[in-house]
Amino acid sequence: MQVLVVEDERRMAELLRQGLEEEGHSVVVAGNGKDGLAIAESHPFDAIVLDVMLPVMDGFTVARKLRAARNQTPILMLTARDATHDVIEGLNIGADDYLVKPFSFDVLLARLRAVSRRGAIPQPVPLQVLDLTLNPASREVMRRGRPISLTRTEYNLLELLMRRAGRVVSRENLIEAVWGFDSDVRSNTLDAFIRLLRDKVDNAEEVKLIHTVRGVGYCLRGEES
Ligand code: CA
Repeated sequence: MQVLVVEDERRMAELLRQGLEEEGHSVVVAGNGKDGLAIAESHPFDAIVLDVMLPVMDGFTVARKLRAARNQTPILMLTARDATHDVIEGLNIGADDYLVKPFSFDVLLARLRAVSRRGAIPQPVPLQVLDLTLNPASREVMRRGRPISLTRTEYNLLELLMRRAGRVVSRENLIEAVWGFDSDVRSNTLDAFIRLLRDKVDNAEEVKLIHTVRGVGYCLRGEES
């Protein structure tokens, strides 16, 4: 792979270069955001490792400008610890994944491999309702920057509700979409999964997003109507 590393901390940049080259990748390092953007625009890469905190132009601006120019090179963002809003902003802008510093090099390699595989297909747009975000590319879900770990079924339910945010989704539609047409899943199974989902998404929060619409189904929305 050809990897562009945009990182101003010399030691970190050199560690990344050395590690990636040992893995057989070819690496170009840029020490600030402006140079990184110029290099990314003039040369095709398989992936970009992009630090958020950069001199001259920050990582968010670099990512935003690349995506605005329809450059779809997979981006793995590096963020500081405890900067969870960074993560949401980065994913909203079009980064494909993120790593919180400090990270192990093995994890970086694995994530890089994953984002570059995903890079071949068009990136699905992250979904957001108030402070709840869901990134279909990475299947990551967060509420107020807090990562939420969901089972496959919970995730599928939430994604459907988020795609139709503000509208009521009937119980039949939810069951069909998540379990399939000829499943014999009953309404109370659906209710049980919604309860699990609420536990993870809503219960610790003041603003509830998942609403029951009696006799019809469920609705995910950010404000009272
Ligand atoms: Ca930095």
